[in-house]
Amino acid sequence: MKAIEACVVGSGPSGFFAADALLRRVPDIRVDILDRLPTPYGLVRGGVAPDHQGTKNIARQFERLCQHPSVRFLGNVGLGRDVGYAELKDFYDLVVLALGAPVDRKLGVPGENLPGVYGSGAFVGWYNGHPDHRDLAPLLDCPAVAIVGNGNVAIDVARVLAKTPEEMAGSDLCRHAGEVIAAAPLTDIYVIGRRGPAQASFTPAELAELGRLRRTAPKVAPRDVATNLPADSPAAKKNLEILRGLAQQPPAGKPLTLHFIFHAAPQAILGRERVEGIRLARSGVAAEAGAVTDKTFELAVGAVVTCIGYRTVAVPGLPFDPARGVVRNVDGQVEPGVCVVGWSKRGPSGTIPTNRADSFAVIERAVGSIGESLTAKPGGRALDLLLSERSVRAVTFADWLRIDEREKATAPPGRPREKLTRTEELLAAIGDQ
Ligand code: NAP
Repeated sequence: MKAIEACVVGSGPSGFFAADALLRRVPDIRVDILDRLPTPYGLVRGGVAPDHQGTKNIARQFERLCQHPSVRFLGNVGLGRDVGYAELKDFYDLVVLALGAPVDRKLGVPGENLPGVYGSGAFVGWYNGHPDHRDLAPLLDCPAVAIVGNGNVAIDVARVLAKTPEEMAGSDLCRHAGEVIAAAPLTDIYVIGRRGPAQASFTPAELAELGRLRRTAPKVAPRDVATNLPADSPAAKKNLEILRGLAQQPPAGKPLTLHFIFHAAPQAILGRERVEGIRLARSGVAAEAGAVTDKTFELAVGAVVTCIGYRTVAVPGLPFDPARGVVRNVDGQVEPGVCVVGWSKRGPSGTIPTNRADSFAVIERAVGSIGESLTAKPGGRALDLLLSERSVRAVTFADWLRIDEREKATAPPGRPREKLTRTEELLAAIGDQ
C-alpha cells in the first residue's frame, strides 16, 4: 500500500497541529510543511508578543515534529508565488491549508490611509521582525498614540509601547523596533473600545499585566466600570474587577498614561500630511458594535494602530469567502482532498490551544475521506522537481536550525535571540548564498 502524501501549507500553530494529527492518525504518511517565509512557526515567531517568551515554548514541540522522519519543512515556498494551488492538488493526496490571516481589516473611515495609521498585523510584524513589515518605519515621534480595539492584540501593542527597555530585557523585541520605541516621546496611549468594558475580549491575565508597568499608569474612568454593570461571562466579570482596581490606582507620578476609552467608535482619522487626531462617536451603554450616537469628540494623537482583526489571503483558484475573509469551507472541508484549519478557516479568533483542538477535529474528518479519493499522487518529489525547475531555494529544517543558531549567537546579553528580519539575510545565514 502506497504512503499517503500530505502537504500542509503554513507552518504556524494550526499547520503544525494538523501535521501532528496526521502523523498520529495515519500510520503510513509523508507530510511536507510549506511556508512562504524562510522561517517556521508563523505567529509564534511573528505575532506572539516578544515579552511573552513562555508562549513561544510551543515551538519546541513543533521542532520535534520537524525532526520526525516522515516530515519535511520547506520554507521560502509560497503558495500562489512559487507553486500553484492546482499543482499542489495534483501532487498530494491531501492538502491542508493553514494560511493564517495576515491581512489587516480596515476601519473603513475617512483618513485611514494617512501616514501614521497602521494595522496591527503590520505593526506587530514590524516589532517582531516579520520580513513583510521590517521597513514599516512607524511614525512614533509623537506624544500620543491611539490603539483601536479591545482584544488581546490591542493589549500587546499597548504593553510593548508602554514598557521601558529594562522591562523588555529577556524579550526578543527586534533591535530596530526597540530603538524607535525607546526614543518615542510618548506621554499618552489611548486604548479605544467601541463597546463597554464588559464586552471587551481581553483575557484577564493580559489585562491585569497593564496594572504592573513601571513607567506607565493606567487610567480608567470610574463611570465606565460602575458596580451595577452586567457581565455575561466569567472573563467579563474578572475584567471588570481588574478595571475597577485600575480605576483606583494612583498615577504615582509616572510619565506615561494608558487611558482606557470605552463606548467610542472611530469616525475619522484626522490630519493633513499625517495623523493628527482621531474623531470618535460615543456609543450607548448597551450599544451593539457600530451603533453610535451623534455625540463626537476628538483625541490629539500622532499615530493610530488598529487592532480590529484580520483576513486571510485570496490565492488564485482557491475558494474564498470575501465577506468573512476566510477560505470557503464547511467544517474545514474545502473540496475533495483539501481542508483548511486555523484562522484561514474560522477567522482570527482563539489562542494557540484553540487551534490544536480545531486542527485535530478537521484532520479527523479529512482522514475519513482520504481513502475514497486516493490515486497515485507523486507527493514531495514532484514538488521538489517543480521548485528546482523554477529555481526556488527551499529552506529545509536543517537550514532553519542554522538561522536559529545565528540568531541566538548574535543575541544581546540576556536576550533569547536577535532576529534576522529580511529574507535575503535569512537566506544568507544558511551559508550557501
Ligand atoms: P479580538 O479579540 O477579536 O478583538 C478585536 C477588537 O476589535 C474587538 O474589541 C472589536 O470590537 C474591535 N473592532 C472590530 N472592528 C472594529 C471597528 N470597526 N471599530 C472599532 N473596533 C473594532 O481580536 P484580536 O485582539 O485581534 O485577537 C485575535 C485573537 O488572538 C483573539 O482570540 C485573541 O485572544 C488572540 N490573542 C491572544 C493573545 C494572548 O493570549 N496573550 C495575544 C494576542 C492575541 P467588538 O467586540 O465590538 O467587535
